[in-house]
Amino acid sequence: MSLNIVETDHKKAKPESEAIPFGRTFTDHMFVMDYQVDKGWHEPRIVPYEPLTLDPAAMIFHYGQTVFEGLKAYRTDDNRVLLFRPEKNFERLNQSSDRLSIPPIDEEEVLGYLTRLLELEKDWVPSFEGTSLYIRPFIIATEPSLAVAPSQTYKLLIILSPVGPYFSGGMKPVIINVEDKFTRAVKGGTGMAKTAGNYSSGYQAQAKAAEEGNNDVLWLDGVEKRYIEEVGSMNIFFKIDGEVVTPALSGSILQGITRTSILELLREWGVPVTERRIAIDELYHAYEEGKLEEAFGTGTAAVISPVGELNWLGKKMVINNHEIGSLSKELYDTITGIQRGRKEDAYGWTIEV
Ligand SMILES: *Cc1c(COP(=O)(O)O)cnc(C)c1O
Repeated sequence: MSLNIVETDHKKAKPESEAIPFGRTFTDHMFVMDYQVDKGWHEPRIVPYEPLTLDPAAMIFHYGQTVFEGLKAYRTDDNRVLLFRPEKNFERLNQSSDRLSIPPIDEEEVLGYLTRLLELEKDWVPSFEGTSLYIRPFIIATEPSLAVAPSQTYKLLIILSPVGPYFSGGMKPVIINVEDKFTRAVKGGTGMAKTAGNYSSGYQAQAKAAEEGNNDVLWLDGVEKRYIEEVGSMNIFFKIDGEVVTPALSGSILQGITRTSILELLREWGVPVTERRIAIDELYHAYEEGKLEEAFGTGTAAVISPVGELNWLGKKMVINNHEIGSLSKELYDTITGIQRGRKEDAYGWTIEV
């Protein structure tokens, strides 16, 4: 399909330091494409960033038929712009869409449109240490109807937002509350999809955890409240007695691209690693025996976020003395090094824009 481009004549000021609040500044242009049953996905276009006009009955507002993705563009020291495994984001967007009864996109075609958008917005990829351009593709149901049924029309948009370093002032281990009351997802639900409702339904647990001095929530399975699932928007890994363990994908956990990359790296390095069910009482037992060596969350935002403390039913697990573990550090340095073109990309994970 031919891409129509309308350039703005009101260019905005770009951030002048690394202190960029997350997700509040947007670039000059956005990508839009529409879906209609008889036409499929059509009219791909790049237009000035501007508000949308939607009917108040548009189905997105009523029953939450929507999916999203999150990835980043990185500026290298020699001024190139790199994407990290972006094909995996569009593959996952289609998996999320499938769960939400949204029609699939042509993954390669839309990645091509994203590349064109990034070429136009290249100057928005910040160059300060640790910064990047956050990319948010999303799909919304637009048909004006209160019927509880899939929409007949949709919009796909891609917006771009320069972001500062996740850890300003250096990487700092986080404190996490193991949630024992609220549930994020259950098998057969929407936990494996990046869809709006999974996040807003976690706000109460996050607020409760924050009141008690925690930075985030670790979710347990919704049925027994026993098996570890993931953190707010990160997958979770533990190093127990020399072995790395992460919860197996069960249908209720998001399949993180950072998670996949870390599993691939660890296997390559010959570090013992297993994906399996892991119970919170098993983790506590390992902690009591002094075998819980490291814990870290993984996701596009932080890449690796070391966990310094876990709080579960009034019990406190202090991990690695609140310090960054050596494996966490090595994984962080390797992945960020590849993303920023400072380390050799032996796996072909990056794509130059
Ligand atoms: C996006 C997300 C992740 C991390 O996925 P990445 O592809 O590594 O960024 C993990 N858990 C949840 C719930 C998420 O939304």
